[in-house]
Amino acid sequence: MAKVLIIGAGGVGGVVTHKCAQVPEVFEEIVLASRTEAKCKAIAEQLDRPIKTAQVDADNVPELVALFEQEKPDLVINVALPYQDLTIMDACLEAGVHYLDTANYEPPGEAKFEYSWQWAYQEKFVKAGKMALLGSGFDPGVTNVYTAYIKKHHLDEIHTLDIIDCNAGDHGHPFATNFNPEINIREVTAKGRYWENGGWKETDPLSEKRSFDFPHGIGPKNCYLMYHEELESITKHFPEIKRARFWMTFSDNYLKHLEVLENVGMTSIEPVNFEGKEIIPLQFLKALLPDPASLGPRTKGKTCIGCLAQGMKDGKPKTVYIYNICDHEACYAEVKSQAISYTTGVPAMIGAKMMLEGKWMKDGVWNMEQLDPDPFMDDLNQYGLPWQVEEVSQKTGMED
Ligand code: NDP
Repeated sequence: MAKVLIIGAGGVGGVVTHKCAQVPEVFEEIVLASRTEAKCKAIAEQLDRPIKTAQVDADNVPELVALFEQEKPDLVINVALPYQDLTIMDACLEAGVHYLDTANYEPPGEAKFEYSWQWAYQEKFVKAGKMALLGSGFDPGVTNVYTAYIKKHHLDEIHTLDIIDCNAGDHGHPFATNFNPEINIREVTAKGRYWENGGWKETDPLSEKRSFDFPHGIGPKNCYLMYHEELESITKHFPEIKRARFWMTFSDNYLKHLEVLENVGMTSIEPVNFEGKEIIPLQFLKALLPDPASLGPRTKGKTCIGCLAQGMKDGKPKTVYIYNICDHEACYAEVKSQAISYTTGVPAMIGAKMMLEGKWMKDGVWNMEQLDPDPFMDDLNQYGLPWQVEEVSQKTGMED
C-alpha cells in the first residue's frame, strides 16, 4: 500500500499511470505531475479510478521539494526527460523519497549521456536511507533484467551479448519518430559504440549493419549498430562479457528521410539565428513532426526486443535468445498508447512495484541487472510483456 508520484505526462507517463492504476493493491494513491497539467488531466480522465494531478517544473528543485512535501509520496517515478534526472534525484534526497527513472541523465545541449552523474549519488542515497532505481524501461530496463536472467539460469558465463531492438510497426506517416524526436534523432545520428575486450570501439553512424530474422512472423530486417546506455552498466556489472553490442532496426524509408534532414542541418542541436531569434533546428523539427502520442491510434504491427547471448553452460558453448513481442494495436486498445511507450511504461510500473513490495528495496543507486531478475520476469508475464527464451543452434546473422 503506497503512494506514488509520477512526473511527466508524455507517451510513457500515460502508460505508467494506466498500469499503476491497474494495480491498486500496490499503488493505493497516484499523483501525476508534469509541466503542463492539462496533459495530466487528459490522462486522468482515461482511468477507471481517480488520481490527483499537479503542475511542476522538474528543472526546479525547490518547486519539486515543495510538491513532494505536500503530497508525501513513497516513490517518485521520473518519466519526464533525461535532463531532469538530477534535479528530481536532488529533490528526492531533500524530501526523503525513493526514486526511479527510465533513462540516464543527459546535460541539456551536450548530446552526452552516461551513468557517471547518477552513480555519483550512491553515497547520498545510502546516507538518506533511500533507493534510486535507474533505467527501468525496456532498453535500458528489461534488457538488463534479461541479461541477469540469462546469467542466473541459462549461461554460467556470458561471452557475447547482442541486444536487438526491432520496431516492425507502421504509423502510415512518411516520417515520424516513435518517441521524443529530440532524443530519438540524436540517438540515431550519433556514432555507434560497442564493448569489446575491456574497451569501447567506435563506429560511424549506422555503418554496421546485419540482417536478423525476427520471430512470430516479423521476418528478416536490417539492424544497425548503435550505442545504447545499458551497455555501460551491463559491461560494468558483468565484466566477463567480451563483446556487447546494441542493434536497432530502421526501414530504408526512415533512413532516407533522416539522411536528407541531416544533410540540410535540421537535426543539429547548435542554435541558429533566424530572423533575430535563436532556434535549435532539432527542436524546430520536433515542432513540425507528428507528436509521438498521436501515433498510437494509427500504428499497426509489432515490436520485438530481445537479448541474444552466447557463452558457456556446463563447460559447453551455448547461445540463447530471450525476447518479447508486443503488438501496437493491442497496446492502444489497453492504454491508449502504442508499443514503444507501452514497452517502457510497463517496466517502469513493475520496477516501482518491486521496490514498494520490498523485493528490490535497497538503499543506494542501482541498475536493473544488479537485482534479482526472477520476480521482475514473473511480473513481465503478468502485466503485459510476456517473454520467451529459446536455445539457438543455427547461425543468426549477427556473426561478424
Ligand atoms: P515525451 O516527450 O512524450 O514526454 C515527456 C514529458 O515530460 C512531457 O509530458 C513533458 O511535458 C514533461 N516534461 C519535460 N520537461 C519537463 C519539466 N522540466 N518539468 C516537468 N515536466 C517536464 O517523452 P516520452 O514519454 O516518450 O519519454 C519519457 C522518458 O522515457 C524519457 O526520459 C525517455 O528518454 C524515456 N524512454 C525510455 C525508454 C526505455 O526503454 N528505457 C524508451 C523510450 C523513452 P510537456 O508535455 O509540457 O512537454
